[in-house]
Amino acid sequence: MRLLIVEDEPRLGQVLRKTLSNAGFSVDLCCTLRDAAEAIANFPYDTVILDLRLPDGDGATLLEAARSRGISAPVLILTAKDAIEDRVAGLNAGADDYLTKPFAVAELVARIRALLRRPGGALGVVLSAGNVELDTIGRDVRVQGQAVAVPRQEIAILEQLLRRQGRVVPRAVLEEKLYGMEEEPESNAIPVHIHRIRKRLSDAGASAEIHTVRGVGYVLTDAKP
Ligand code: CA
Repeated sequence: MRLLIVEDEPRLGQVLRKTLSNAGFSVDLCCTLRDAAEAIANFPYDTVILDLRLPDGDGATLLEAARSRGISAPVLILTAKDAIEDRVAGLNAGADDYLTKPFAVAELVARIRALLRRPGGALGVVLSAGNVELDTIGRDVRVQGQAVAVPRQEIAILEQLLRRQGRVVPRAVLEEKLYGMEEEPESNAIPVHIHRIRKRLSDAGASAEIHTVRGVGYVLTDAKP
């Protein structure tokens, strides 16, 4: 699950990025309306956390523009405590939920999870292939009904493979999902992660397997359909 945070207060932005990354999300952070508009146009985020008062304008205009272009990702707006008119404008512009500043970060995580659980939002809460299951909200993996410990980067990769099972997932897509826009992935990061995921799955008796498509990417198939 990849989130976009649009927040111009540097400290709050960093805290949100860190906390949400630790909660298992891939997180991008933008500080201006302009950067956020570009990010939203270029990537199908699972949820957007949007501060309304930004240095180059009002977050509600961005939201309205995104909705008019058919972007349906859940949007949670952040508003000042006394700015009721902001909140109303944000909800009218197509926001799904709001939080007033200051807020507890745990509350934000809970609200995001609730948005992701809504029907019509993210596709399927539990993804599966054969006896492998991945809970996209709880971020845990089960094989033959037994929990398997999988680090969050590997869960992000496995999620993409499960969402497109039977189809090749290009390596670049996995790199995209794994890293925020500012970080440069190591050139061998994906093959290393894939190697580890394969081992975890086979050790646990998984029926699904990940195959390498040389020069392109990876495909997950259920070996015993
Ligand atoms: Ca602000």
